[in-house]
Amino acid sequence: MKWWILKTYLGDRLEEYWMPDDEIENLLVGAANFADERAAVPGRRREIPVVVAVDVLTVQQDGELLSAAVSRAIRPEFMYPLELWPRPPVAVTQRQDVCRPLKSFLWSLRKIRVTDVEEGLRVMEECHICLNSPTIGDRISLIPNCGHAFHNHCLVKWLTWSETCPVCRCEAHPYRPTNPYYMFGP
Ligand SMILES: [Zn+2]
Ligand SMILES: [Zn+2]
Repeated sequence: MKWWILKTYLGDRLEEYWMPDDEIENLLVGAANFADERAAVPGRRREIPVVVAVDVLTVQQDGELLSAAVSRAIRPEFMYPLELWPRPPVAVTQRQDVCRPLKSFLWSLRKIRVTDVEEGLRVMEECHICLNSPTIGDRISLIPNCGHAFHNHCLVKWLTWSETCPVCRCEAHPYRPTNPYYMFGP
């Protein structure tokens, strides 16, 4: 198996964990080699499922409140929803009826990684969806029409059921969400 095939499916998710490119490559080369070794055993099926488990740590920065460090620990609800990926890495059966152009639009939103709280505050004083201020590691996205900024994971969930900016009510995208039952959740 070629490691970059795994990267096609997993690279973006691992980047969400703030994993550097070289670490992503090392991990996936190891996983691909392991799959090749297992597949080389006579009598085995050629298709070997590969599961990559990642231990995630959160680190308290100098001068950062412990509550802020804990609150930015990566959890499924802080990540881009798997069912909205253009190429879901696993079979997604729930809530997958968001229209394709909307999915592409949400995926194309630029994500600004907060590496410094002061800089983050200049981009987004507070996310008006979850009412939290930016902390280190957050990813912020702007609505192109009005420039209002939110956490990326908050904004994509919002726009799967609303067409307007939560702050100024401008048209945030031209694609009608098709799933009125999309709810906030992991
Ligand atoms: Zn938010
Ligand atoms: Zn706005």
